[in-house]
Amino acid sequence: MRAVIIAVGSELLGTRRLDTNSLRLTASLEPYGVELTAKSVIGDDEAELARTLARSVDEVELVLVTGGLGPTADDVTRAAVSRAFDRGVQVDEELVEHMRRLFASFGRDMPGVNRRQAEVIDGAVVLSNSRGTAPGQRLAVGGASVFLFPGVPRELEKMIETHLEPWLQEQSGGGDRGLERQVVKIASLPESTVEERIAPAYERFGRERISVLASPGEVKVWLAARGSEAERRAELEEMSRAIVELAGGAAYTTDQNATLESVVGALLSEAGRTVTTAESCTGGLVAERLTRVPGSSVYFLGGVVSYTNELKTRLLGVSAELIQAHGAVSEPVARAMAAGVRSRYGSDYGIAITGVAGPGGGSEEKPVGTVHVAVAGPGEQDVEHRKVRFPGDRERVRQQTSQLALELVRRDLVRRDLVAD
Ligand code: ATP
Ligand code: MG
Repeated sequence: MRAVIIAVGSELLGTRRLDTNSLRLTASLEPYGVELTAKSVIGDDEAELARTLARSVDEVELVLVTGGLGPTADDVTRAAVSRAFDRGVQVDEELVEHMRRLFASFGRDMPGVNRRQAEVIDGAVVLSNSRGTAPGQRLAVGGASVFLFPGVPRELEKMIETHLEPWLQEQSGGGDRGLERQVVKIASLPESTVEERIAPAYERFGRERISVLASPGEVKVWLAARGSEAERRAELEEMSRAIVELAGGAAYTTDQNATLESVVGALLSEAGRTVTTAESCTGGLVAERLTRVPGSSVYFLGGVVSYTNELKTRLLGVSAELIQAHGAVSEPVARAMAAGVRSRYGSDYGIAITGVAGPGGGSEEKPVGTVHVAVAGPGEQDVEHRKVRFPGDRERVRQQTSQLALELVRRDLVRRDLVAD
């Protein structure tokens, strides 16, 4: 089966809003092996949408439309479908009644305009929307099936589950020749290094099944397998194990939903260790990331944003002479910050960051992107330090820095775990 996705909404053509619904829809197609041939974004323009719809049903077997089902004049999807396929539209009084009750349950009268949402295209099946007023519809046009879904992501999400996925399952005859993906996430390793390390896997499994996606401080290796569910699982298991091995300790998870901070958090919890942070150029980013994880209060005691030299001294006990001698962006100061935050605030780990995030403030000796990261570990004299020069703008430097800091803690925890075993 081939499919196209059409996202409707003039706001999606502007610079402020991105069509993310198509990503969600695409994800639901993949397991069923449906081949997506095109995605379009169309404004609230009835004629344009009608043209695209008419063309699509000639070319593919499945057309997924999101948006434009609202009650106002700029919601044109129903009218465009009616025009494209020359179908009549009837108001479904039962739906009107349903919507009236829905409004009543919020203590409101249904506005007259909402009647439009009860317009059902001739021959269409109504798809209930448990999270909103606009129902979806499904109709057959020639050899194609056309789905109309609301644009509100929360509503779409639910409707994919209740209407699209069961339908896809049925179409695939319960058979499962779909595509499944799995990720291996690697922190703080350049993309080129990852490419080099995993090269043997290209040969072994086929280049087309492995794709590498890089973002600041992180590389995701995506693996793909086809076949029955059991075959897919077995292959992905084998492939991900190979990638993890080839990455040489740098892979931190094979769970799509896990983040570096959640993995570090889980390791800290497991080990019964705590952490504090002392950040300069990242302004609390590491602390922010650590606290994104629910339950982080078990291991995260708190953090200091010590931007000035004075606060590095007052809050962390870094000696003014040390800063004077080496400068704030230096290895000795980073080490002193890490040891200081750890001992002052009584944690097992102390993370420290000092650097030049740019765009100003660089010098010949310390160019923009120069960062010192230090991690004081549970042993007394035990401070690990890295000096790096990150490429990119301020945001990228900060992101890469927070990634490196968390990765250093993760590796230390894993290493200790191995030794303890
Ligand atoms: P509905 O059919 O649910 O009434 P609509 O397009 O008529 O959808 P809008 O008010 O235009 O309703 O959009 C509702 C919200 O959903 C808006 O915040 C809009 O930006 C968002 N939205 C619509 N389409 C998409 C999309 N493809 N991806 C992400 N967000 C979207
Ligand atoms: Mg819209």
